[in-house]
Amino acid sequence: MSEPYDYIIAGAGAAGLSLAYHLVQAGLHDRSILLLDRAPKTTNDRTWCFWEVGEGPFEGVVYRKWNRVWFHGEGISRRLELAPYAYKMIRGLDFYRFMYRWIAEQPNIAVRYGEISRIEEREEGVEVRLNGQTFKGRWAFSSLYQPLPQDPRYHYLLQHFKGWVVRAAAPVFDTEAATFMDFRVAQQGAVRFGYVLPFDARTALVEYTLFSAELLPPEAYDAELRAYLGSVLGLDRYETLEAEFGIIPMTDAPFPRRPSPHVMNIGMAGGRTKASTGYTFQRIQAQSRRIAHALRQTGQPFYPEPAFSRHAFMDSVLLNVLEKQRCSGKQVFSDLFRQNPPQRVLRFLDEETGWLEDLQIMASVEIPTFVRATLEVVGRRLGQPKRG
Ligand SMILES: Cc1cc2nc3c(=O)[nH]c(=O)nc-3n(C[C@H](O)[C@H](O)[C@H](O)COP(=O)(O)OP(=O)(O)OC[C@H]3O[C@@H](n4cnc5c(N)ncnc54)[C@H](O)[C@@H]3O)c2cc1C
Repeated sequence: MSEPYDYIIAGAGAAGLSLAYHLVQAGLHDRSILLLDRAPKTTNDRTWCFWEVGEGPFEGVVYRKWNRVWFHGEGISRRLELAPYAYKMIRGLDFYRFMYRWIAEQPNIAVRYGEISRIEEREEGVEVRLNGQTFKGRWAFSSLYQPLPQDPRYHYLLQHFKGWVVRAAAPVFDTEAATFMDFRVAQQGAVRFGYVLPFDARTALVEYTLFSAELLPPEAYDAELRAYLGSVLGLDRYETLEAEFGIIPMTDAPFPRRPSPHVMNIGMAGGRTKASTGYTFQRIQAQSRRIAHALRQTGQPFYPEPAFSRHAFMDSVLLNVLEKQRCSGKQVFSDLFRQNPPQRVLRFLDEETGWLEDLQIMASVEIPTFVRATLEVVGRRLGQPKRG
């Protein structure tokens, strides 16, 4: 392949690999693509969960899926039927291996490994430096994450979690249902919950998750996870097969989408993480499809985005409620699942609900609390942070 490449994809994680895949699926197999990353991925560094109706593009690597989930909260302990949705789980390593096999069959995709030190705008394109070597491209897509500077108009929480794949001495897990959120853990001034992804009756990925501004000391996650396994799930005898730790930013601050004319930020770096939940994987797929469509239709990747999104605004209000601890996250999520069919909640989190369903969702939470949070969000956006 000769330079300039049509597309340079800086970062070959979930977003970079998905973008390459969707570009080719959209019929752009005559365009040259260069994928760059530090190194090929050889470990199962993360697990992606998401919900979906029917089969998705990566159905072949879905490790487990469940048609129902448990929700344990304030005044609710319910096994929820999700149809037509299924809750699905993809192991990171399965996804990477699937993509590497697929890439090996694509004559228009080249891959190079090393440290990316610069992505620079040039006349009519970009230059990307990798281990001192320069690659020229017409467009660059970057998933190299840069933390945002703090701005008082926005909210900054972290979703942080530790998970173990455990094998229990006896069959204990409900293989028919994952546990979506389990609030039967002490909240200690943050949003804290466990969740369980059962592989079979004895094996499951069990996670302990927090939404808060500060991380815990590393050993605290292990202690909380052990306590959740023991006192909530009643599991004392198990072996730990794998561990996973993650931090996902939950913020309504805008991520730069177009840092320079020929560069587009994608994935988490491009603001694809849903601020109120941390779910990103499906939003990466949606973004990749839209970029591929825009490139086909207009020759450039920047598809139009609305200046105001009602759902993004509602995310800000929820972040404000949680950040200010106006009421507990346990209460909010319990109200949502107690008073709405789960399908409506999932559609809402997918930002696919209309006004009527949004009103039904809003009517299920503590209205005065959310009105106060809304007023503060508006005040902060106007540049007048309000206290209280
Ligand atoms: C442990 C964990 C579990 C998660 N679980 C879920 C989930 O269940 N559901 C969900 O929807 N979301 C989940 N997420 C959030 C999100 O889906 C993932 O973080 C996802 O991997 C984000 O994709 P990305 O491509 O933006 O970033 P990444 O996948 O992190 O990819 C960025 C890539 O850039 C490369 N890179 C960075 N800097 C450089 C450099 N200077 N030079 C070369 N290469 C570089 C990295 O090596 C990496 O491969 C999870 C995140 C984590 C961390």
